[in-house]
Amino acid sequence: FTQELGSIIELLADDKELTFAAHVEDPMPALVEVDGTRLRQILWNLLFNAVKFTQKGVVSLEVKAKAIDAETSMVTFKVCDTGVGIPPQELDKVFAMYYQVNLPEHQSATGTGIGLAICQQMVSLMNGTISVSSVVGEGTCFTVDLPLEISKKPIQVETLKVTGLQILLVEDIE
Ligand code: ATP
Ligand code: MG
Repeated sequence: FTQELGSIIELLADDKELTFAAHVEDPMPALVEVDGTRLRQILWNLLFNAVKFTQKGVVSLEVKAKAIDAETSMVTFKVCDTGVGIPPQELDKVFAMYYQVNLPEHQSATGTGIGLAICQQMVSLMNGTISVSSVVGEGTCFTVDLPLEISKKPIQVETLKVTGLQILLVEDIE
């Protein structure tokens, strides 16, 4: 899955001096269940933004997990870039529907300003949180925290497996 994302990112960043780095905490505590369609959409939106607003450097994805109790693990997905950044007074606005930062370095990018609004809706449907931190001219990080159920079922719809991580991507959740 991270390989899949990595190759898409490299394709998108074709004409840029960009590399993609994925880092997954090792060892991951447990197999967790997540709606794969939603997770993909969230990470895809964040990674696509990172590539769009970065000319040079690194776009990275970091995954970590922390046990909350026997049933639940808090999984953190952090997408960072070394791009144009977002001014402090704009940080809380970027999640609003149709909002786009009105600065010359943001203007060249295409889009309609809905990606982050959708991310925020999906994350809140999953009882998670999304936040952003940024330094203008240095880069931006978006952090998604999702409380995910630790899997007990041995079903394997799709396995995300990188350096010890196993996330069960459940495509159909009843
Ligand atoms: P769409 O996602 O609909 O294609 P968009 O990417 O412009 O359009 P959002 O993903 O909602 O819309 O992002 C809103 C705005 O937040 C962007 O237009 C941009 O100004 C700012 N932004 C988002 N991600 C980044 C980032 N990684 N670096 C700098 N600015 C960003
Ligand atoms: Mg977007």
